[in-house]
Amino acid sequence: EKAKNSLLYLDGVSVSFDGFKALRSLSLVIEPGEMRAIIGPNGAGKTTMMDVITGKTKPDEGDVYFAGDTDLTRMDEASIASLGIGRKFQKPTVFESHTVWNNIDLALAGVRGPFATLFHRTSLRETARIEEILDIIRLADKKEWLAANLSHGQKQWLEIGMLLAQEPQLLLVDEPVAGMTDAETRETAALLREIAKTKSVVVVEHDMSFVRELDVKVTVLHQGSVLSEGTLDAVSADPTVIEVYLGR
Ligand code: ADP
Repeated sequence: EKAKNSLLYLDGVSVSFDGFKALRSLSLVIEPGEMRAIIGPNGAGKTTMMDVITGKTKPDEGDVYFAGDTDLTRMDEASIASLGIGRKFQKPTVFESHTVWNNIDLALAGVRGPFATLFHRTSLRETARIEEILDIIRLADKKEWLAANLSHGQKQWLEIGMLLAQEPQLLLVDEPVAGMTDAETRETAALLREIAKTKSVVVVEHDMSFVRELDVKVTVLHQGSVLSEGTLDAVSADPTVIEVYLGR
């Protein structure tokens, strides 16, 4: 019932590693067009949760539904990605020796290796989409730059752009602002909010000033399940959250 209208529904997901429960009956609902921040102390299960959504890790118990009633639980990673779930890992992986524009073009073409660009002709429609993505990721004025010459933060944006080129419905983002300057961090919040106008976004984050800037509903994970959910102010005032973070 719940699953029918939501984009992502984790229903009582449990994952164990050698008897250690990384996720304990975790349930989570993400609505279409929603951006959600996932926070929690180290070892809370944030990475394992992302791994379950993308199919890298299979639950021992529970189910994962996408776009209503598509059951992802037993699908392989490639099939899940092709349904429209994109994941941005912490470390940016861009083609350093290619221009910014070319990086997006390659991603758009779904081309696997950098050499295939020689044989690919970009259509007018694709060119328009590339320009649109460059605007979103704040790199329109650097489209002729080699990716190697971008700052760390700009490389992160470029990789987000490469994911956008694949037109996911759900974008999973792992600690996007780690290592960014304050200005880049603020810009990242703005660009993710822009992306969330047309897609659902799940952000795992440690940086609380960034989470505040995102200004979205927050889910606090602890010991593999949901400890608290609500605005950042609400979860920050939740005694169970204070206890976990301050160890009292
Ligand atoms: P977080 O991302 O919130 O820091 P993780 O999902 O990485 O938490 O980890 C949750 C718990 O599961 C941790 O205690 C971690 O040591 C354990 N864990 C994660 N992956 C594995 C694995 N592949 N094998 C064994 N234990 C793991």
